[in-house]
Amino acid sequence: MLGQMQSQPLLISALIVHAERHHASGEIISRRVEGDIHRSSWGQVARRARQVARAIDATGLPFGSRVATLAWNGYRHLELYFGVSGTGRVLHTLNPRLHPEQLVWIVNHAEDSALCFDMTFLPLVQAVAAKCPTVKHWVALCDADKLPADSGIPGLTSYEAWIGGHSDAAYNWPEFDENSASSMCYTSGTTGNPKAALYSHRSTLLHAYGAALPDALGCSARDSILPVVPMFHVNAWGLPYSAAAVGCKLVFPGPALDGKSVYELIENEKVTMAAGVPTVWQMLLGHMQQNNLRFSTLKRTVIGGSACPPAMINAFNDTYGVEVLHAWGMTEMSPLGTVCTLKNAQTQLPPEEQLKVRLKQGRAVYGVDMKIVDDEGRELPWDGKSFGDLLVRGPWIIASYYKGEGGDPLRYDEHGKGWFPTGDVATIDPDGFMQITDRSKDVIKSGGEWISSIDVENIAMAHPAVAMAACIGMKHPKWDERPIVVVVKKPGASVTREELLAFYEGKTAKWQIPDDVVFVDAIPLGATGKMQKMTLRQQLKDYALPTA
Ligand code: ADP
Repeated sequence: MLGQMQSQPLLISALIVHAERHHASGEIISRRVEGDIHRSSWGQVARRARQVARAIDATGLPFGSRVATLAWNGYRHLELYFGVSGTGRVLHTLNPRLHPEQLVWIVNHAEDSALCFDMTFLPLVQAVAAKCPTVKHWVALCDADKLPADSGIPGLTSYEAWIGGHSDAAYNWPEFDENSASSMCYTSGTTGNPKAALYSHRSTLLHAYGAALPDALGCSARDSILPVVPMFHVNAWGLPYSAAAVGCKLVFPGPALDGKSVYELIENEKVTMAAGVPTVWQMLLGHMQQNNLRFSTLKRTVIGGSACPPAMINAFNDTYGVEVLHAWGMTEMSPLGTVCTLKNAQTQLPPEEQLKVRLKQGRAVYGVDMKIVDDEGRELPWDGKSFGDLLVRGPWIIASYYKGEGGDPLRYDEHGKGWFPTGDVATIDPDGFMQITDRSKDVIKSGGEWISSIDVENIAMAHPAVAMAACIGMKHPKWDERPIVVVVKKPGASVTREELLAFYEGKTAKWQIPDDVVFVDAIPLGATGKMQKMTLRQQLKDYALPTA
């Protein structure tokens, strides 16, 4: 027997319709490429999303065509989020930090039909345009009078001229299958070619509900949310969609991600919640420390993408009174998997014990199921000690990559249910708090025992002179691999190899102390701000472990 309830497809267009109807005056603030601050509202975004929809309809691009963006976080990007997907075309967010050749590869693989870009990326677009034959429409996200006279890009039009020619009157957003593709994002592809996660309207809406829950990112109409995490990487962790659902204020940093700019935006726009990767917060905390600054409105920061070092949690919590929500996810998971919000039992723990819990990546958001398994696929206990491959399943986790690249990625259990292997190694404690011990490819195997590179890095990061630390395994004749730690010092700070190694004493088992410290000026960061250990290993290919 079927239930007798209304069955409306879950579509992204419904989010912007809701935001306009219920939160029209809700503010959308953007620092623009031009450097100024632009003030908009959900009502205005909705009107302009309708203009985008009509402009796209006028191109005649078929349903499902890919419309790419190469853009910072800002109001025009937000309008494209709703305008493009709302019509049934697929919003393909490109990562501008990729190498131009990688971009060309991705645009061709995705067969993008249109590409909308911020003016900062004009030189990049000029360099790649001729190699992207599928792109028929080039749109610069700027006013008509800012369009360069002779860009060399065929048919280049300005966004304002493009949408300005169309009405913002009521638009009949099409209804279609909620499983239709809405947007796509390529993974950074540390091994082999990048592969794309192709999100659906349904997965995006369910993720928007899940992410907004109080024990997840906790978004409400009273919040002012600053997504520092880019809209070109997994849709800024889905925040634009959750924000439309709850009608909160959104604050976009544009290209200015330095500590000073981010701090000013937080203060001026009364930001209550900000989300980003640890490297961005490092810059912010550095700026605040140097200038002896404090936050007046910020209540919480969501930190994810890489493990959040304890020193960062402490700095936010103890010095600035800001709660850190450590979160974990992946491009393939839309991206949210777990968030570390405490249960009653953990709030009763003494501060040191609480910190240990806060360091974990957290509890599964409803909608995500997870388990850890051994090499034979047998499920391991949730005892906080046993570690194994972390597998996930749920309605916002991929079933297969775009175009079926790489074959079927899932692993099937005895009931035939497919689980996505995350490539992470983790423990889960009896209260359901998951902790990543490592990326399976980064784990160091020393004499048959595993050493977590994250643990080694966290200890180094707690040293006052250390700005950044990467632990990698080096081939060893006896132990198979031994860890070394590659360190960038804070400007003006000093620490020697011996001092840093001594700093490990008593903080970890002796055999887990790295064999050496290598000081470098910079650690290579990938397109999403993560340390690139592959590149680092190549840079250190002539390095030899100390023999003593
Ligand atoms: P990429 O495309 O670079 O893989 P993702 O954002 O999809 O980017 O990366 C997902 C991976 O990032 C996870 O599988 C995990 O290894 C790592 N990661 C994400 N969040 C955390 C976290 N809070 N702690 C540790 N590792 C994390």
